[in-house]
Formats: sequence, structure tokens, C-alpha cells
Amino acid sequence: MKWKSLSMTVAAGVILGLLDVGTAAQQPIDQAMVTAIKTEGLRRSEAPDLFYTLTDRLGQRLTGSPAHLEAARWVVERFQTWGLTNPHLEPFEFGRGWSLEKLTIEMIVPRYMPLIGYAEAWSPPTAGILTGTPLYMGDSRAEEIDRLGSRLRGAIVLTHRPQTEFLRTDRMQPSEGNGPVQTGNPALPEPTSATPTQQILARLQANAAAVALRPGAMEHGTVRVQGNRTTPNSAVPSVVLAAEHYNMLVRMVQAGVQVQLRMEVGARFYENDRNSYNVVAEIPGIDPALRDEVVLVGAHLDSWHTGTGATDNADGVTAVMEAMRILKAVNTRPRRTIRVALWGGEEQGLLGARAFVDRNFRDQAARNKLSVYLNDDPGSGATYGFYMQGNEAAKQIFDGWLEPLRELGVRRNVIEGIGSTDHVPFDELGIPAFTVIKDFRNYDTRTRHTNADLADAVKPEDLKQSAVVLAVITWQAAMRDERIPRTRQ
Ligand SMILES: [Zn+2]
Repeated sequence: MKWKSLSMTVAAGVILGLLDVGTAAQQPIDQAMVTAIKTEGLRRSEAPDLFYTLTDRLGQRLTGSPAHLEAARWVVERFQTWGLTNPHLEPFEFGRGWSLEKLTIEMIVPRYMPLIGYAEAWSPPTAGILTGTPLYMGDSRAEEIDRLGSRLRGAIVLTHRPQTEFLRTDRMQPSEGNGPVQTGNPALPEPTSATPTQQILARLQANAAAVALRPGAMEHGTVRVQGNRTTPNSAVPSVVLAAEHYNMLVRMVQAGVQVQLRMEVGARFYENDRNSYNVVAEIPGIDPALRDEVVLVGAHLDSWHTGTGATDNADGVTAVMEAMRILKAVNTRPRRTIRVALWGGEEQGLLGARAFVDRNFRDQAARNKLSVYLNDDPGSGATYGFYMQGNEAAKQIFDGWLEPLRELGVRRNVIEGIGSTDHVPFDELGIPAFTVIKDFRNYDTRTRHTNADLADAVKPEDLKQSAVVLAVITWQAAMRDERIPRTRQ
């Protein structure tokens, strides 16, 4: 039923779109400017350099870590170099920071074998190097764990059953076909245990266990690892192992093999500065009637900590930065102000974008001044169009704007919305806010929030394409006579 009504909505939108092309919804497109943007973005691209700096040189950018702040300062410096106006950091309250300083995990008996594992973010460090036989508790009831009492002291604990369910399928590819789109992140199967996870961890903490190991739910040595910034410093250190390695250890322990592990987690907390930062800059508008209005373009700079945050979200950051560089390089003089924001704290709940919205758009008059927010985040590869969040009138306009970009491989805008990224706080207030459509190939099953989120997952040509598409759409929005239409006030 839901599917049927969705496709009817889409069909109606297509018909309206056809009727409207060339009439009120569309203004003539400035072909000379589109060509200038394409030429700058495809022939003189700095996108690959930006991307490899973000991923290879700066590396992971966990919010609250020194690495995130270093990346944010580097963005400010790039914006200054390009001549953007007023590049600066905007603080927002975040909490204590954390960085991983060391992680080793090895099986040393009955043979030597290094294992793949990562500490959860905000895990406390271990008390130096641990060596011991792991205790398996995946099938232990709470009272059985309690009976172990002091035997838990200093123990390396396998807290869950072997992982048998895996995340094996990416979500559907939204740009393909003409049908409705289902959006949303496929769920990661949770590890199972006879005693609920929180109850196990509470007992391990009370009895001073040394570390908790649990399996991931990705295949082929890939590990998706996140973490909770409110984890207390007194928590048991927590490490996620590649499922295949974890399962091997449990089978060996259950078969009575005398396994010994050697491991160490080094981690540091940062308590002094409890802020994190968004990076903000702009190209001022020149039209006296419109320059107080803003077209905002952005992406989240932060990432999780195991890979280098390449597909999530250095590719999006690269597209946004390079789009701004291009717009400056071709000497745009936009009617509206074009502002750029690179958010922190997205992975902890869209915190940077929410703080920005709270600070700037509390009243309706301020909201009326923001024409549109354009966001680049989920998926990776080329940009195909936008999720239009149910805004039919905006979709007609954006459909027209894709036309001069066809040769770059854009495909379609979809009427459906997407959640879980930084346009959401704007959308919640009725401000038009749209996220780009990209592919999800190997994104859910391989790179999102994993140790495999590395630069090779992204093609340099796709970075150039995404930047050009974003620059053209941003430019169109900045030059249009009217703001992007609202679905509600
Ligand atoms: Zn992301």
C-alpha cells in the first residue's frame, strides 16, 4: 500500500514537472557560467589533493579528537587561501574528546596470529599490556557471571556468542530506474548473549575485568566500530573484533584449546576544551534586494575513528570545499550570499548542524532568509541528483537544473526524503534542505563507519564531478529570482 501511494506521488510529480518546464518554475540557465564552472572543476580540479589530504594526511576525524580540530583548522586555512570571506570556527558544546593512541591484539598460544580489532571510541585504555586466557561468557546467565566473582579481575572476556548474522546487502541504489526509493541505513545485526550486554558490562566493571571483546557483524575482516561519548572513564575497555577472528577464538575456547591473547589499548581523553567546532565561511551576495538571503552548502567533516573517513565523509567535504573554490575561482558574483559549513559532531547525532540551527534560525524571520541548504553525505561516488524531501515545487526547479549537467552523468532527483544526516535539523524547521544522491555500492557492507573506509574506495573523477554538480546547483540557487519554495512555513 505504501509503495503504491508512493509511486502515484512520483507519477504526479513527473507530470507537473513536464508542464512546468520552461514556465514559471524555470528561469533561463546562465550557460556561460555553467561552462565556466565545468571548465574550472574538470580541468583545474583541486579535489583529489583535498581528498588525499583529508584522508591520507589528516586521517580519521573523530569529533573531539585533536585530529578533527586539526582538519577544521586546515579547512579554514584553505578557505583563506582561496579568498572566501570570514572563514572561522564556530564552537558548540560537545563534551570530552578522545583519541586512540595504541591498539594491539594478538593470539600468542597455541600459535602466533595477529587479530583484527578496534577499540570503541571513548573506551578507556587498558592497564598496560594484558596477557591471558580469554573467558567466554556469551552463553553465561547473570548468576553464572556473578559466581565468577574475583576470577573476573583482570580478565580478557569474550562477552557474546559467535556472530552468525552479517550485514551482507547494501541498500537499494536510489538513482536507478524511475520508481520510488526506500531510504535508510540497513540495520547492523547485534551480537547476541545469554545475559543482556549492559548487564554483562556492569558485572565486568564491578569485578574489575581488564577488557571486553565482542564480535562485529561485517564480513571479510571488516569491522564497523562506533562508540558513545558518555562512556565513563571507569568503564571496562571495549574492543570489537573482526567476526571471523572472534568466532575462531570462541570455537577454540569451547573445544578446550588453551588460547592465550596479548593485547593493549592506549587511549587518551581530552577534558580541557569541551567544545567542538563547525567551519563556516562565505561568498557575499551582491544584489541589494537578495544579499541578506543565504544559500547554504555543507557536509560533515567528522568521521569515525578506525579508517580515514573517506566515503563518510571526506568525499562530501571535498565536493563542498572544491565547489566553493570553483565558485571563487570563476569570480562569481552571486545575488544571494553563498555560505559554507563543515559540521562537527554529525556522527554523534547531527550535533554541529543542530547547534548552528539553534543559534541562527530560532525565529521565522531568520528562517525566511535561508533559501536552501544543500548537503553532501550518504553514499559515495558521483552525484546523481537530490533527495527532495517531499517538496514537489522544489523538485521541478531542481529537475531543470540537472539538464545542463546530463553529460556529467547526473540521473534524477527523487521526491523521497532521507534521514540521518545534517539537512535534517533544517528540514524539521520547514527550511528547504536537500542531500545529494550517490551510490551505496559497498557503502553499507564495506565502508560506512569501518576500518575499510579508506581513500581507495573513492575515484578522483567522481570527486571532480560531485564538486562541479554542487557548484552549479549552488550557483543556480544563489541567482534565482525567488527563494526555493517551502512546503510549510
Ligand atoms: Zn556521514
